[in-house]
Parts: sequence; C-alpha cells; structure tokens
Amino acid sequence: MLSRALKIPQLATAARQLRFQTTVALSSSLTHYPTNHTQPGDEPYITPSFVNNKFLKLESTTWYDIHDPATNYVVLRVPQSTPAELEEAIDSAAKAFPAWRDTSVIKRQGVAFKFVQLLRENMDRIASVIVLEQGKTFVDAQGDVTRGLQVAEAAVNITNDLKGETLEVSTDMETKMIREPLGVVASICPFNFPAMVPLWSIPLIIATGNTAVVKPSERVPGAAMIIAELLAKAGVPPGVVNLVHGKHDTVNALIEDPRIKALTFVGGDKAGKYIYERGSALGKRVQANLGAKNHLVVLPDADKSQFVNAINGAAFGAAGQRCMAISVLVTVGKTKEWVADVVKDAAQLKVGSGFDSSSDLGPLINPECLTRTDSIIEDSVKNGAKLVLDGRGQKPAEERFAKGNFLGPTILTDVKPGHRAYDEEIFAPVLSVVNVETLDEAIELVNSNRYGNGVSLFTSSGALAQYFNKRIDVGQVGVNVPIPVPLPMFSFTGSRGSFLGDLNFYGKNGITFLTKPKTITSSWKSSTVAGDILKPSTSMPVHQ
Ligand code: NAD
Repeated sequence: MLSRALKIPQLATAARQLRFQTTVALSSSLTHYPTNHTQPGDEPYITPSFVNNKFLKLESTTWYDIHDPATNYVVLRVPQSTPAELEEAIDSAAKAFPAWRDTSVIKRQGVAFKFVQLLRENMDRIASVIVLEQGKTFVDAQGDVTRGLQVAEAAVNITNDLKGETLEVSTDMETKMIREPLGVVASICPFNFPAMVPLWSIPLIIATGNTAVVKPSERVPGAAMIIAELLAKAGVPPGVVNLVHGKHDTVNALIEDPRIKALTFVGGDKAGKYIYERGSALGKRVQANLGAKNHLVVLPDADKSQFVNAINGAAFGAAGQRCMAISVLVTVGKTKEWVADVVKDAAQLKVGSGFDSSSDLGPLINPECLTRTDSIIEDSVKNGAKLVLDGRGQKPAEERFAKGNFLGPTILTDVKPGHRAYDEEIFAPVLSVVNVETLDEAIELVNSNRYGNGVSLFTSSGALAQYFNKRIDVGQVGVNVPIPVPLPMFSFTGSRGSFLGDLNFYGKNGITFLTKPKTITSSWKSSTVAGDILKPSTSMPVHQ
C-alpha cells in the first residue's frame, strides 16, 4: 500500500495548483499519501475548512505553521477560521439539522456501515498523515485509527441502541419514551489522537440524528480532514458534519453560539475546565475528558516478565503521549528490585522516525514539551529522585532529525508526591517509580492523586485483585491489563480530575449525552373500532 504513494514534492505541486481555487482537494488520496518526511523547501499544504461537504480555501489572515515533530520542518499551515467562516459552518450545521433528524434511523445506519468500510480502506492513508503531523510510529497510528473505527462500528448498532421504552399504562393508553437528538454538537479535539478522538464523537453525533461542527487540534488537522471526506463519500448530507480551524477564538465562538446545544471536549485541564464551566453556564451539555496520571501497581506475586513487557509498552509507547499511558509505577515491597529489568528493556527501545518500521517511539509534539520535560526531570532530581535511565539527547543518527523533538525512555526512581515528576502530567516517555510496602499504601497513593483516568494492577491473585477493585477510586481499572481503555460497547469512564460532566464518551452514556428523552402518552380507544378490514398489500414492506 505504502509503496504506491506519491512523493511529497508531487503532493505539494498538486496543492499549489489547487490553492487558487475556492474549492480545494486534500493533500492525500486513497492511493497517494506521504510515506516520508518533507524536505526543506517543500511547499507546505494549506489546510482548507470543510463546510457543506466541500473543502474551502479560507480567507483568513492568521495562519499557524505546523511542524513535523521529527524534523521541525514546516509541513502545513492551518488557519484561524474567521468569524464569517465560523458562522458559515455553524449555520450549515443548524440548517442541515431538521432534515437529518427526520432521516430514518435505518438510513443513518446505512451511512454508518458505508463509513466503516471507507475508514478501513483509508486506514493506511490516515495513519501516514498522523505520522507526518503528530510523529507517532506508523503501527501506532494505525492503532489510533482502529480505536476510532471501533466506535464507528458500534454506531452501526444505533437501530438497537436508540430503541425507546413503551408500556400500556392504562387500558388503551400507552406511554412511550423516545430519545431525540439535541441539534448541533461541537467537538473539540486534542493533538495526541488525531483520528481516534474525532471518531469518539462524530459517528455517534450523526447516528443519533445530530449535526456537528468539529474543531480538530490545530496541530494535527489532517486525519480529521480525511474523516470528513469519507463521511461525505459515505452519504452524509451537506452540512451534517463541518470542520473549522484555529485556537481559542474558534472554541469561544462554538461555546457562545446559541445554536450549539452540546460541547464534547478532549484535552488538557485548563481548556477543559474553561469549556466545561462556560458551556454549562450557558445551559449547554458538556462532556470534558481531561488530563491524567495513571499508576501501575505491581505486587510480588505478579508474573514478572508479563509485567516488564506491559510497563514498557504502556509507559513509552506513543512517546508517553497517551492519556492512558502509565506514567507512575508503584512497586510494592520487593518488586522494587524488578525495576532493573524494566530499565534494561526500556534502554533497548529505539527512538526514531514514525515512518521507520524499526522505531519504537517517535518524537514529542513540539520543542516546548521537550524543554518542559527536561525541567521536570531536573527539578525532581534536585529534590531527591534518581535518574536511572536518561533518554535525553537520544535521536536518530540522520542529519534531518537533528532538530526533532526526540526523547528516549527515561526512568526516575525514589519519586514521591511533591516532586514535579509525580505531581504534574508530563505527557512524555518518562516513568516515575514510587515504592511502597503494602497494597493498602498503594491504594492510598492512587486515591490521593487528583486524577482518575486509569490504573492497573499486576497480580496472580484473584482475591487481591478483588480487594483492589473495590477500594480503588479510578474510573478505568485494569487487572494484568496495562492500558484498560474499554471497547465502545462500554464507555470511556475516566473519573475525578480526569473528567468533567455526567455522561462519558461513547457506549450507552455517549448516546444518552447526545440525546434528550421525550415521553408521549396516547390513548386510542379500541371500543370505537367499527370493524372495517383493510385490503392487505402483497408487496414486501421495506420500511425505508
Ligand atoms: P489542549 O487542552 O492544549 O488542546 C485541546 C483542544 O483545546 C485543542 O483543540 C485546542 O485548540 C483547544 N484549546 C487549548 N487551549 C484552549 C483554551 N485556553 N481555550 C479554548 N480552547 C483551547 O490539549 P492537547 O495538548 O491538544 O492534548 C493533550 C492533553 O489532552 C493531555 O492533557 C491529555 O491527557 C489530554 N487527553 C485526555 C484524554 C482523555 O480521554 N482523558 C484523551 C486524550 C488527551
């Protein structure tokens, strides 16, 4: 698949030609997509918006340069959508809503089926764009798409999930409760899962009969743009899904606009708290997934090699830039001796280009993250933590990666609450090790942390696992599973400081968030039937 792709200069030429038209094409197609990093001097792609199923050249005067994290060459430019362009997107979503709401659920399901098929076909294309813009390895980027695809697959079950309740409450009188869509829903996304997070919300927003205005992270818009193209191909009518770009001004416009009835946000604490508070004050529904600090607790009865493999994958995969990455290892009792094995294996992991199949982890998203991580490491070491594996300075040998934001697996032991490495979400391949003597101490530590996204326990005892499960106050618990993200037949149930709102993403909670209940009580007296019999139809009823 990859070998058939066009080289970047050819893509850039295509983009240059198209930029003079109002309607533009994406920089990639099913068969032509990047397979390598850009070169200095390559023309960056100019990101369009997506409104009424068309990619439109934006008139903005404010543009952000987006750098490839592996090289720091500029690969694309993303606009700050102007007020007029934001109005156009919201207006198109609002206008499309009545017809889409009234489109039968079986037709919406048909669109969802087609979309799933197109996502599968375009998996490698989306993954390659993620590698270029976000930096993760190609295999990991395929995983990013797959976890989103699974939500889209679950959305095809909307014909079951949206069933209401009916009861004959009195003779010839029934009450039915149905769930209706809200209207226009805005989705605001982070940089670390360019495909998965937009797909956490878009398939269910539209399957439930809502329309959407989506703001991808300004740092990684490419995957969401392809998703928009595929939605249109799948038969989503114009206006049902629209994409806008930019930073705070775009988010503020989405929060303030009365036509937008709900906000779904995934990202950091600061933006999430602001969006939740402002959106709620305006009477909107808001669900906000925030930051995290996920602990893995290992007990002496655990399978050591299973544990060592799991911790390295969960701490250093995606360069630690996963909201469910394990960033704290809690060794209980003598398992602190196992850290030497963790270090040995972590030191073998290879930092490199996401396009290089031998790389285990790619770069951080930008130089600022690298600098911040360095200062957290320095500060924690100054306060008593021990740096037993230092990944600073690691990068691929090739000259073009000299300025990339690479950081190799880094491990700090003797970490304690109060150290920045423990207290802050680092979002980098840095594992902090805290040692405690008992399981109760470990539970106390985890429950005292402000975040509640994920936790994992490694043990061979069902009884100890049961003890842990009942006492731990974290929304997503794994037992011998390092990253316990539930598949979409359940919901993503981060809790405490990792979530604001009442109803989580996807699963039953997701559908409840995106719909409002209505009860209809009807009385049809059967005693009034005159006894006429209708002539039966002999053709097969199809219920379109
Ligand atoms: P971010 O908060 O910087 O950005 C997220 C979105 O909010 C972006 O679209 C951005 O443009 C917008 N934004 C940023 N600051 C804003 C502000 N002040 N006002 C209005 N909008 C603003 O997050 P990020 O750096 O893109 O993503 C990383 C963060 O996301 C990490 O903290 C990570 O834990 C979190 N995350 C959480 C989950 C989860 O499910 N809990 C999943 C993925 C990522």
